[in-house]
Amino acid sequence: SAKRSRTKRVARFEPEMLITNMERAQLEKDLLNAIANNEIKPFYQPLVDLETGEISGFEALARWNRKGHGFVPPTEFIRIAEEIGVITELSDHLLRVACLDAQKWPDTVSLSFNISPLQLSDPHLGLRILKLLNEVDFPPHRLELEITETALINELDTATEIIYQMHQLGIRISLDDFGTGYSNLSQLSHLDFNKIKIDRSFIDSFQTDEKRMTIVKSMLALGSSLGMETTAEGVETSNQLAALIELGCSRGQGYYLGTPASSEETLKLLETPHSRGFTANA
Ligand code: C2E
Ligand code: MG
Ligand code: MG
Ligand code: MG
Repeated sequence: SAKRSRTKRVARFEPEMLITNMERAQLEKDLLNAIANNEIKPFYQPLVDLETGEISGFEALARWNRKGHGFVPPTEFIRIAEEIGVITELSDHLLRVACLDAQKWPDTVSLSFNISPLQLSDPHLGLRILKLLNEVDFPPHRLELEITETALINELDTATEIIYQMHQLGIRISLDDFGTGYSNLSQLSHLDFNKIKIDRSFIDSFQTDEKRMTIVKSMLALGSSLGMETTAEGVETSNQLAALIELGCSRGQGYYLGTPASSEETLKLLETPHSRGFTANA
């Protein structure tokens, strides 16, 4: 029974657990080294204005190519960085590099940057970001911070304060993965978001699932009535793009519109004429 095996586990040598612990210890060690050696870099995925077809900004997405293992999913190493207490260091490094990269883009192109749930409990987050932006001389109005709905609900008080501070600095805030958490819509109305990002799980199926279509429509209506821009995440087909334009969604992001790319490739994309986004009404 479950009870018996639980009692056993205390005394018994479990080789699988030992391997797991060793692997985990090695992973932590590699992660610390990678952070120290600047091996974790942001890639950039276009955010496209669905009215004009132009790239309006890029979202920075952390990439770690772990020696001998290949790319580690950011959700995994971000969580470990939180657990071993190095998320601030990692995030500061990524934001610094992203600002330096974004300075080479046209200054109308914005930079979106993800803030991890744990960072939202840091009351000094606002000051840290301000200091960093000053150091690299990056204009706050070009920066947009993405906060997930779930992180927000767990840290509502600190998050409210941080959002307030960010607005004072001219930094915009988007609500990431909207629809996956359980936020109370009246809570949302108290928070000053500039943008909501509809989670890709809705975009994935809204054309074939009537209920999801209704939800997407009401998220778009909510966004426009609160004066917020709405971005659809995970746009993978021309069909989805056409439907979103039809529904009046303001922004899109997804493999169909552009995949995450290195800083060098991103610069090339921006410098190539007619390669920006898609051709509106084509
Ligand atoms: P997110 O902020 O919601 O980012 C969007 C994710 O969707 C990215 O995954 C992106 O590569 C992926 N994606 C974009 N277009 C499509 C599409 O058309 N189809 C599909 N299936 N996926 C698409 P990625 O890069 O693996 O990042 C996963 C999550 O990890 C991010 O979700 C974000 O929450 C977190 N993350 C990534 N970079 C950072 C970072 O620098 N800091 C923090 N705190 N979190 C990060
Ligand atoms: Mg995001
Ligand atoms: Mg998202
Ligand atoms: Mg996500």
